Amino acid sequence: MRMLADELRSRIAARCRGALVPARRRAASTSARRRANAGAAVEPRALPRYVGLFDVDANLTHKAFKGDWREQVVHAAAAGVTHALVPGSSLADSRRALALSQDGGGAEVRMWTTAGVHPFNAAEVGGVDGAMAELRALLGSSERIVALGECGLDYSDGFPPAAAQLVWFERQLDLACELQKPLFLHIRAAFPDARRLLDGRAAELPPVLVHCFDGDAEELQWCLSSGFHVSVSGLVCKAQRGAPLRALLPQIPLDALMVETDAPYLGWKGCRVGHAKGAKKTFPNVPSALPLVVDAVAAAMGRAGGDVAVATAANARRFFGV
Ligand SMILES: [Zn+2]
Repeated sequence: MRMLADELRSRIAARCRGALVPARRRAASTSARRRANAGAAVEPRALPRYVGLFDVDANLTHKAFKGDWREQVVHAAAAGVTHALVPGSSLADSRRALALSQDGGGAEVRMWTTAGVHPFNAAEVGGVDGAMAELRALLGSSERIVALGECGLDYSDGFPPAAAQLVWFERQLDLACELQKPLFLHIRAAFPDARRLLDGRAAELPPVLVHCFDGDAEELQWCLSSGFHVSVSGLVCKAQRGAPLRALLPQIPLDALMVETDAPYLGWKGCRVGHAKGAKKTFPNVPSALPLVVDAVAAAMGRAGGDVAVATAANARRFFGV
């Protein structure tokens, strides 16, 4: 219920501020009139409450979006998302993510990508040496690949053994240090090992983003004192699971923060509110839910949503150099 009240307040505030550019307002009302004149049902069209949002983790190569990723991008653009990072999770997936971001889906969302081997795939790919040579070549193949990742450690159930993950993580850390390529990190239930490896390379590290941060207060302080950025995902919108993260948010300086949906993961009731199909489902989460993540972050930080929207987009563009 709190989310609904916050959303309503920020919708009203955005309308009062005139967040929509007049030309778009005219275009929207003209097309609505045209549909009405043609006898078609006029669908209520939500106004974007923010403009210029940057979703730093939209997993559009996921099979959940196989048939409709273009539609998702159009929805995201209508919700005020102008930049999205589509991460790679294996060498093959990184190539798919690059092709997808180059295609762009025909919407006004500028897309960027990463190349790397996610801890979930640490056991699947073949020999490490060959793969690292391929990864090095891939990273140099396009300016659209703005970071090395997702890489990291995840000791949750169902992931490969820690020993396999550690090999891949160390090799990718070394490559990122050598190339000074920004690191896009996935760390879950594995902060002690991640911390040991990152602290051991502190002097050589490139810029680091810990995406979908879900650690505790001490882990957050370590990230911040190390100069890392953290991004907050749809987890912040989950009523119960998001509570510890919401409690930590006031400790994060605005200039260290980014936002993401982590779509199709980490959906919550209401994340698909703008979608006619499956509006009540929690999976897949969608990139057009990013304004709701911004609302929840702003409410937890006690800041205006517009300030969070502007700062997180500026941080991401500066971090990735786009
Ligand atoms: Zn991740």
